[in-house]
Amino acid sequence: MTKSERLFAKAKTLIPGGVNSPVRAFSPYPFFTKCAKGSRLVDVDGNEYIDYCMGYGPLILGHAHPHVVRAVREQLENGTLFGTPSEQEVELAELICKLVPSAEMVRLVTTGAEATMSAIRVARGFTRKKKIVKFEGCYHGAHDCVLVKAGSGATTLGMPDSLGIPEETTRNTIVVPYNDVEKFEKAVKREKENLAAVIVEPVIGNIGVVLPKEGFLETLRELTAKYGVVLIFDEVITGFRLALGGAQEYYGVTPDLTTLGKILGGGLPMAAYAGKEEIMRLTAPSGKVYQAGTFSGNPISVVAGLATLMAIRQKGRAFYDEMEQKKKKLCDGIRDLQRDGKYPVTVNEIASMFQLFFTDGEVNDYKSAKRADTAKFMTFQKKLLENGVFVPPSQFETCFISSEHSQEDIEETLLAIEESLEQTIT
Ligand SMILES: *Cc1c(COP(=O)(O)O)cnc(C)c1O
Repeated sequence: MTKSERLFAKAKTLIPGGVNSPVRAFSPYPFFTKCAKGSRLVDVDGNEYIDYCMGYGPLILGHAHPHVVRAVREQLENGTLFGTPSEQEVELAELICKLVPSAEMVRLVTTGAEATMSAIRVARGFTRKKKIVKFEGCYHGAHDCVLVKAGSGATTLGMPDSLGIPEETTRNTIVVPYNDVEKFEKAVKREKENLAAVIVEPVIGNIGVVLPKEGFLETLRELTAKYGVVLIFDEVITGFRLALGGAQEYYGVTPDLTTLGKILGGGLPMAAYAGKEEIMRLTAPSGKVYQAGTFSGNPISVVAGLATLMAIRQKGRAFYDEMEQKKKKLCDGIRDLQRDGKYPVTVNEIASMFQLFFTDGEVNDYKSAKRADTAKFMTFQKKLLENGVFVPPSQFETCFISSEHSQEDIEETLLAIEESLEQTIT
């Protein structure tokens, strides 16, 4: 019995399902990580893996990047939590407002879920309306009003994805298929009297990677502007990932509010919501929309975030280009493997994000993503592990490349993928 296996057995008696966030559990048991550096994870049994989960997105500089480690270490000596404002928070706020096109003001929070919850609240406060539109397959964190058709969860129509959420709560959430401008327009026209906000992942990263069709984001912008609805881009994954200014810079579409997280904390817990000053200033204490958090803007997360953003900024466009090239090499390599039609997989990719789906059809929304063979994916994931590569243990997650993935990593991974596909398909 491995140490991971033993730890998992014990964990299951103490922690529901043995894990502190559901996707981390997979069968027969997840490996328990002992340490991580750069592109690699090492488990408690001494196995090493090339990591494409990267903490589910935050670790764009890889694990334990020296800049981040130094910033955190220095800050530790000066205190971990003040309960007062600090200079670094102002510096980070200024940087966010400089980098993210829609950000005129920003409030720091601790998790992505808190960011979307607060953004929706301030949008409702601003419009004094209560309904929101969300899209099938978009995940906005584990809070009540957005846990409907949210990525890999249960999918009963119009019903919450979770027990414990009153129907009354999700009744104000209108769910529309992603990439479907006609249904969106219909929904907005029908609900415009009561509609506070539209929230969307500009690129979906929570049913695998799904890209917006040409004109989709522009239509959201146009119609929300026309009907006075607040447009929220949930850039918790795409922020600082597609570009320093996120998907809004990449696609040239500016929302009213933006939620950020993951990369923002440089591997520590931090998130934010940002946007137009006239909306943001409604947040307490300058306005009447209440929002608060003990750990908000804590100095450890803030310096880790600053160190991360500064490191990216220093390298400029080349930082993103290099990661994109490595991803391209990987994805092209996977496509080359299929040339003879042996492996019916579809690869979706953008910037340093990718996912392969076990389906031969195009994947451009929730329905088409759900067509993928999830059992095959899990076999593939397991084979990859045996071959020294860790991808998130779900068909409905995203693989991330960091700046620390080397050409050798990519080559090694391609060999592992080839072998694992072979073992999966046959
Ligand atoms: C991860 C994620 C969230 C939730 O962030 P947490 O920090 O896990 O609460 C929200 N939105 C998107 C798009 C995400 O990917």
